[in-house]
Amino acid sequence: MLVDFNHGSGCVYGRDASEPEPLGARINGRIDAALEAEREGQRPRGYLGASRIGEPCARRLVYEVTHTPPDPGKDFEGRVLRIFAAGHVFEDLAIRWLRQAGFDLRTQTQAGGQFGFETAGGRIRGHVDGVIIGGPEIGLAWPVLWEHKALKASSWSDTAKKGVQLSKPVYFGQMQIYMAYMGLGSALFTALNKDTCELYHEHVSFDPAAAQALSDKAVDVLRAADAGDLLPRIATSPDFFLCRFCPFAVRCWEDRA
Ligand code: SF4
Repeated sequence: MLVDFNHGSGCVYGRDASEPEPLGARINGRIDAALEAEREGQRPRGYLGASRIGEPCARRLVYEVTHTPPDPGKDFEGRVLRIFAAGHVFEDLAIRWLRQAGFDLRTQTQAGGQFGFETAGGRIRGHVDGVIIGGPEIGLAWPVLWEHKALKASSWSDTAKKGVQLSKPVYFGQMQIYMAYMGLGSALFTALNKDTCELYHEHVSFDPAAAQALSDKAVDVLRAADAGDLLPRIATSPDFFLCRFCPFAVRCWEDRA
């Protein structure tokens, strides 16, 4: 005898239009609406964050720093906000594991705030995941900046294969800026595979030329924003892969003529 465990209409697949939305969709709709409302209630950043300076397209950074609305339907949806929140939980786990292994990882100042810096009158700021000031003998000279990312499996594998500079230039730039303004000579980049919990660690040296170029770019972005200008596009066609994923693509290319 076949048993149907789908109690109630909320669990029925292949529903017609007259049936109510499935239970999962109704619950997720509520969760996502709450997360999106929470995000809308937050004050937009009044500065250029160091985590964004490594973004390859400076024009996109001008849109971001001027709080230009994304194209319709391109703002962060609830699902993406859940991914961000999960990243913080994974980060807390990685912090705990490193500390259990004997690394003296500091994530808060004595006053309880995040370590960070600001420059250009507070218009460029960064908040770091942590600083390791001591630990087991593993061939690193302390202190080092600590930066953590939780990545999906394919992205994690690419990072582990190519290294952070090639695979994740935005994260590499973020670390260079942090090291430059916090006077740190190197960083430990930790990437957690969200599917398998594998950990990839990479020692990243301070690259003064790269940091200077990024700092110059940040100043260019702020100057353009102040002047009401846009910086040149990174590509000559909206088909460029970065443009295809850019939340400002319609706005950016509509005035091409
Ligand atoms: S659409 Fe392309 S060129 Fe325009 S801001 Fe986005 S990434 Fe830059």
